[in-house]
Amino acid sequence: KLYNEVQDLKGNIRVYCRIRPFLPGQSRKQTTIQYIGENGELVVINPLKPGKDSHRLFKFNKVFGPATTQEEVFRDTQPLIRSVLDGYNVCIFAYGQTGSGKTYTMTGPNVTSVVDWGVNYRALNDLFNISQNRHSSITYEVGVQMVEIYNEQGAVFPPRTCNIVISILPFTCFPFGWLNYTILLFMVSIDLHTLGIWNTSQPNGLAVPDASMHPVKSTSDVLELMNIGLMNRAVGATALNERSSRSHSILTVHVRGTDLETNAVLRGCLHLVDLAGSERVDRSEATGDRLREAQHINKSLSALGDVIFALAQKNPHVPYRNSKLTQVLQSSLGGQAKTLMFVQLNPDVESYSETISTLKFAERVS
Ligand code: ADP
Ligand code: MG
Repeated sequence: KLYNEVQDLKGNIRVYCRIRPFLPGQSRKQTTIQYIGENGELVVINPLKPGKDSHRLFKFNKVFGPATTQEEVFRDTQPLIRSVLDGYNVCIFAYGQTGSGKTYTMTGPNVTSVVDWGVNYRALNDLFNISQNRHSSITYEVGVQMVEIYNEQGAVFPPRTCNIVISILPFTCFPFGWLNYTILLFMVSIDLHTLGIWNTSQPNGLAVPDASMHPVKSTSDVLELMNIGLMNRAVGATALNERSSRSHSILTVHVRGTDLETNAVLRGCLHLVDLAGSERVDRSEATGDRLREAQHINKSLSALGDVIFALAQKNPHVPYRNSKLTQVLQSSLGGQAKTLMFVQLNPDVESYSETISTLKFAERVS
């Protein structure tokens, strides 16, 4: 194994905290971030209630301050991503309230500018570069799926809102052995297609086998596909921002390496997940769809927390089946899989209570 430098980290779950800067044009507000240590320490305060009790210390694998660049964040993520080429399953997700920088970290603010690229573009770019320059006897094939999970349960909802897992890439017919087929891209997208989730012990190992799988050969293929995916997401949503903060979006990268000398096949899978906003909705105010959405988000985020907590505790029972999200991600959570959570924070004093609940969630699983 070439990339075992990441294996000596405690357990297989790591947590990186990232604090976004105050945004330009906003009047600078009071910050809740008092101290960021070199070794992952973070001290948060409530500036409106100063005093000894308002300090809270948290400790993670790393804390990235507001000035950290996309490149710096990626540098600490890269070894994990490269282990996919050794056949590991890896799951990287961003957790935090809406506006805390989840999409910034995972996708970046601007796809056309390479310095702004988030983890997902950099990851794919890196996988292509490495796989082309690595052992000459191994050839790698890469395919991507993009799905969105919106609400949890079908039966009680009207059709439009009962989409459990939606493929946001153009639908393609996809039999087993996908890597051997030439793919037809149908530009007519069926973006509200509801997809079943399969047990990943199926022979092809795909959690969402009906979501279209797109072989990609270069970063520009990926950029093209992701733009289509993002467009479909926009088309499918009445209010994009509203929806994107309430759905989980998952980019899955499947890698298959074949050793041409021995014919040995190795598979690795990388899930890159931009989670729904973790903010609590005031139940007394939310009604109808809004309340249902909030309940589903709560359910899937807490199910995710429970799964990671069980894994961190080495608990023999891991409750994967409690949400669609954890079912889809199952193969890359636990076992030999490596998991990284970005805990995203908005430093604004108004976000203090959400910041604390985000940090508590992260503390529980780390
Ligand atoms: P979320 O996806 O969690 O709702 P976004 O990623 O959309 O949050 O971020 C909210 C706003 O903050 C966006 O305008 C984004 O460009 C900006 N932002 C987030 N993180 C950073 C960062 N590290 N540096 C600069 N701007 C950021
Ligand atoms: Mg977002």
